[in-house]
Amino acid sequence: MLARAPKSTRPFEVRSSPMQGQGVFATRAIPVGVRLVEYGGERLTPAQAEARYPDLDGERHHTFLFAIDDDLVIDAAVDDYVAKWINHSCDPNCDAVVDDRRIWIETIRPVRRGEELAYDYAYILDEPHRPAAKRRFPCHCGATSCRRTILGKKR
Ligand SMILES: [Zn+2]
Repeated sequence: MLARAPKSTRPFEVRSSPMQGQGVFATRAIPVGVRLVEYGGERLTPAQAEARYPDLDGERHHTFLFAIDDDLVIDAAVDDYVAKWINHSCDPNCDAVVDDRRIWIETIRPVRRGEELAYDYAYILDEPHRPAAKRRFPCHCGATSCRRTILGKKR
């Protein structure tokens, strides 16, 4: 069973990140398999998300959108949702787990105090993942296994 971190004693904090913008950092050691926080936000249909962000597949990328499935997109840009500040890594210590159409961030290995939390965004675009598309979604995570893009492998 997964342990869940109570809100008042969350073992992480938001501060500026050497990777990109804001990041989320462990304030104490966290074991593997801990469900840390929900990727909360407004629940939209893909059509609503596209209307809100018409350039969804264009030049900018919106890191606060999270597609759960073909019918449901979470927009964490609204309101004070902490999980949206968790950065991408190609060698992450967390994973985003979909459970009953909600997204949870869980540790996949033990995390040291002060370590930045990250998961693999593995974005999938409608278009083919050609080099130009990968350059629009670059990764600078610094992992030795860094694949230079936050796009995932197309199935
Ligand atoms: Zn990387």
